[in-house]
Amino acid sequence: MSSFEDNGGYIVKKETNHYGGKNIRYMDCKYCGGQVRNVGEDAKSVTCNTCFMGIMVKRFPESATFTSKSYKPTGRPAGWHWMLEFVDKDGNVFHKGKEQPKLKGTLKPTKVKPRKKTKRRSKDAILVQKYKEKQKIKREIKKQQDFINHNIDKGWYNESR
Ligand SMILES: [Zn+2]
Repeated sequence: MSSFEDNGGYIVKKETNHYGGKNIRYMDCKYCGGQVRNVGEDAKSVTCNTCFMGIMVKRFPESATFTSKSYKPTGRPAGWHWMLEFVDKDGNVFHKGKEQPKLKGTLKPTKVKPRKKTKRRSKDAILVQKYKEKQKIKREIKKQQDFINHNIDKGWYNESR
C-alpha cells in the first residue's frame, strides 16, 4: 500500500477504456466524506470545494468576494416595496412589497424611470442665471421701496387728516 492509500485515498485504475486512460486518485473529503476526484499523489487529506468555501468564509468573511454572487441586482427602483403596486420585469406583482403570486404575469411591468442626471450647466447658462438672480433682487428692492414709499405717503396722508 502506498502512503496515499494509507491516508484513505483510493485509485481507480484507468477510469476509461480509452487508450491512454489514466489511473485516477480519489479521496474522501475529510469534512463531509464526499468523493473528491483527481487528488494529488501526496495528498494526506482532502477538502471538497464546498467545504473549502465554507471554511474560507468562516476564516476570512471579509475576503469572501464570491458571496457577492448571491447578490443579484433586482432592477427594482428604490422604494419599490412602498409602492401600492409594483410589477417587476418578470411579471411578479407586489402590493406594498408583498408578492402576489396569483397575479403573476397578469400585469405589465412597472416602468422604472431612470434616475435624472443633473445637467452640466454651460458657462452661458450660469451667466444667464446670475443675471436673472440680479434682476430678481432688483425687483425685490424696488418692491420694498415702493412699499416704503407708499407707507410714507400713507403716513403723511394719515397725519394730515
Ligand atoms: Zn466536503
